[in-house]
Amino acid sequence: MKSSLRVLFIASEAEPLVKVGGLGDVAGALPQALLDLPTTTTGNYKLDVRLCIPFYPCINAEALNPNKILNLKVKKGSSYESAEVFQGELGNLPVYLIKGPPINSSGNVYSLDTRMDGEKFAFFSLAALELIKSGDWKPDILHANDWHTALAIHCLHSQQKVEKSFKKISTIVTLHNLPFMGAGTEAALVEYKIPPSLDPNLPKWARTLPLPMGLSAADRIVAVSPNYAKELLTAEFGNDLQSFFKLNQEKLSGIINGLDTKTWNPFSDKYILQNYNFMTLEGKKLNKVQVLKSHHLTGSIKAPLLISISRMDQQKGIDIILDALRKIAKYRWQAIVLGSGNPKLEKANKALEKEFPGRFRAIVKYDPALSHQLYSAADIYMMPSRYEPCGLSQLIAMNYGCIPVARNTGGLHDTIRQTYPNRPGTGFLFQKATPDALAEKLVESLSAIKNKPFWTRIQKNAMQKDFSWKVSAAAYFDLYRQLVEKENL
Ligand code: ADP
Repeated sequence: MKSSLRVLFIASEAEPLVKVGGLGDVAGALPQALLDLPTTTTGNYKLDVRLCIPFYPCINAEALNPNKILNLKVKKGSSYESAEVFQGELGNLPVYLIKGPPINSSGNVYSLDTRMDGEKFAFFSLAALELIKSGDWKPDILHANDWHTALAIHCLHSQQKVEKSFKKISTIVTLHNLPFMGAGTEAALVEYKIPPSLDPNLPKWARTLPLPMGLSAADRIVAVSPNYAKELLTAEFGNDLQSFFKLNQEKLSGIINGLDTKTWNPFSDKYILQNYNFMTLEGKKLNKVQVLKSHHLTGSIKAPLLISISRMDQQKGIDIILDALRKIAKYRWQAIVLGSGNPKLEKANKALEKEFPGRFRAIVKYDPALSHQLYSAADIYMMPSRYEPCGLSQLIAMNYGCIPVARNTGGLHDTIRQTYPNRPGTGFLFQKATPDALAEKLVESLSAIKNKPFWTRIQKNAMQKDFSWKVSAAAYFDLYRQLVEKENL
């Protein structure tokens, strides 16, 4: 007889219901990938994974057809806020959606009003715990993601001694982006009477911030790549929590994110002109011709096409790209940057377009269809991130035979194999987040691309790597299994 292993996976966004960034990709894919694990991996366990996200007004719930299953009361100081729980299914994945005034009143998933977001996610986290208390399905594992839901772990932990239904629940928080700790939400926590963390290993300032509170309370912390888990122990990446991470090393690990290889497959991609695989790489040429033409780049098809598709944010080093391109002006290349975000960076991109007319194009918008076309057309992907917990773009680029030139940090280190003069890898890595370091590697890649058999080998290496969720989902299952077996000892 198999024993069931029940996991409640909570997040602020999950594709295809609602997606803002990389977290939405993960929360959309990982629960399903866990359910798809073969019995050779899950052995004596029957995994029962369920997803729980806020029922934002903007959610695309059509595919779910949700039914209301519960009314709940969430304690807010001395009064209560009411919550409604809906349930539906995405394929074979049960999904809970939680509705309530703090969620209804916000048009977007995240806002610039940190207090409002604090109230929204405090309410959601507490409502998810009420669902566990009142519903007839109890998880063995509560798996939270980032600051928005880390609070649920903190609150579960603080009630575990008194609340019977919480006693045997183990907790995991996956860390997608450490610098976003939930600053500005303190007033909302006071309003909901959420007690601060009492952990002496946390610096004082961190004891009232949702993410550190959850990290401290969780049984396990998972960073989204093994290398990022190591970097968290250092002053450069630890955001002043490095001492806390060092003291908690035994509960910290890293599991790389997978890629949704159904959506991101150049052989079946519906957005691109010419489908191709690693055996028919010449198909990329047609896509390149189309992209150059549509975006008024006037250089020859032979001039390597460099791209970046990213939030325009300090983290991503967009400024580094612009300066590096200036430094390599005398070489043969053309480039397209697609992205939106920080207005200063958007402006700086537009300024470079004026410096390099017909050679550099800045497309300031969010355009998924265009992103597919660019990955399929381009030769080189520029990714000089200042930090990169995992990174998705480099995985997509490699799957499309578009070779990353990236900083050797976080998940980029774990997913890109360095190319040496006589040894083709899957990309090019450099150490420092500076225009000089990126420019130097770009020049090396522009030289390597002239050697066609060598470059084709790099492309084939990149395209043949398995970036699917299978391996990572198995690693998460293993963690769940360890926690459940520890609990049952
Ligand atoms: P992030 O830190 O933003 O999550 P990732 O590299 O992990 O960075 O994931 C970024 C994802 O968002 C990729 O799928 C990338 O193609 C997509 N993306 C970023 N900016 C844009 C844009 N302007 N238009 C379309 N897709 C974009």
